Amino acid sequence: MKKLVSAGEILVEIMAERIGQSFLEPGPLVGPFPSGAPAIFIGQAAALGQPAGLIGAVGKDDFGQLNIDRLHALGADVSAIAVHEGHATGTAFVTYRPDASRHFVFNIRNSAAGLLEMNDAAERLLDGANHVHVMGSSLFSDRATEVALAAIAAVKAKGGTVSFDPNIRREIMQASGMRQALDQVLAETDVFLPSDNELFLFSSAGDEPSAVADLLNRGIPCIVLKKGADGAAYHDRQGTVAMPGFAVEEIDPTGAGDCFGAAFVSFWLRGAAPAEALRVANACGALAVTRKGPIEGIHRLADVEAFIAKAEMLA
Ligand code: ADP
Repeated sequence: MKKLVSAGEILVEIMAERIGQSFLEPGPLVGPFPSGAPAIFIGQAAALGQPAGLIGAVGKDDFGQLNIDRLHALGADVSAIAVHEGHATGTAFVTYRPDASRHFVFNIRNSAAGLLEMNDAAERLLDGANHVHVMGSSLFSDRATEVALAAIAAVKAKGGTVSFDPNIRREIMQASGMRQALDQVLAETDVFLPSDNELFLFSSAGDEPSAVADLLNRGIPCIVLKKGADGAAYHDRQGTVAMPGFAVEEIDPTGAGDCFGAAFVSFWLRGAAPAEALRVANACGALAVTRKGPIEGIHRLADVEAFIAKAEMLA
C-alpha cells in the first residue's frame, strides 16, 4: 500500500468550554488534547490502515510524549518526530465565537514545533513514501515552508503525488512569504482540498463553478471542495461528483477537515473511484464532529464502515 507523509505543527490544544467564552477571563477549559492539523491528518490515515508518517518536532515534555503516544497507538510512523530538550511542545488555545467561527491563540513558531527540519529521520521516512500531504497552516515560517517543499521534491522525484489543504489559520501564517508559499505548493498539487470559502483565495473568479474551472484550467488535476454539513464535491476535467454529508449532531467542528482529507487521500491512493473516496471522507468528517477534541474525532476503518452501513440502511 502507498505510504503518505506530512510535515508540520504538533501541539496540544486547550479549548474554552462555552461558546463565546474568552481566554482573557478565567473560565472552564477542556483539554489538553493532542493536536496539529498534520498530526490529525496522519492519525486518521493510519487509523484507516494507510501507512502514514509525520515529520514534526515536540519538546521533551509530557505534552510531546502525549502526542507521540497517541499517534503511535493509531498506527502512525512517529520515527521522524524529533524530541527537543529545552523547548516546550507547541500549544493552541481555542475559543468558539457565537457565529460558529473559532479564534486561536497559537504558540508554534517559538515552541519546539518551530524547530521543524529536514533531518536524517525525515529523509528516511520520505525514502519509503509515495505521497506528501501539505497543510497551509504548516507553512508557518520560512523554515517550515522549506521542509514542505523539500518533502514535495523528494516524492515527486520518484513519481509520487501531492495533496494540499489550505487550512488557513491567519493567527499563525506569516504575512510575508505566505502567499508565495501557498502558490508554490498549489503548483505541485495533484489533489486540492479547500473548504468552499478558501477556494476564492486561489482564484479571482466570482463564483464557485468559475473558480473550479479556473483552477482546473491552470492544471490542478482534481479539486475536492469541503462543504461542512452539506458534504463535499469532487471536480476534475471529466466532470463533477457531489456527495451530501451524513446527518450527525455536531459537538465540535475541530479536526473535521483533517479527518475528511485523510480519508479522501487514503482512498484515492488505493485507486478508489471519487464517489467511494467522497463517501468515506464524508463519514470521517461527520464522525469527527461528534466528539469534543481534535484527534479524539478520529475513527478506525471498521467503525467508519459500520457508520456508513447504518446510515445507508436508514436512508
Ligand atoms: P474544514 O474543517 O476544513 O473547514 P468542513 O467544515 O467543510 O472543513 O468539514 C469537512 C468535512 O467534514 C465536510 O466536507 C463534511 O464531510 C464533514 N462535516 C463537517 N461538518 C459536518 C456536520 N456538521 N455534519 C456532517 N458532516 C460534517
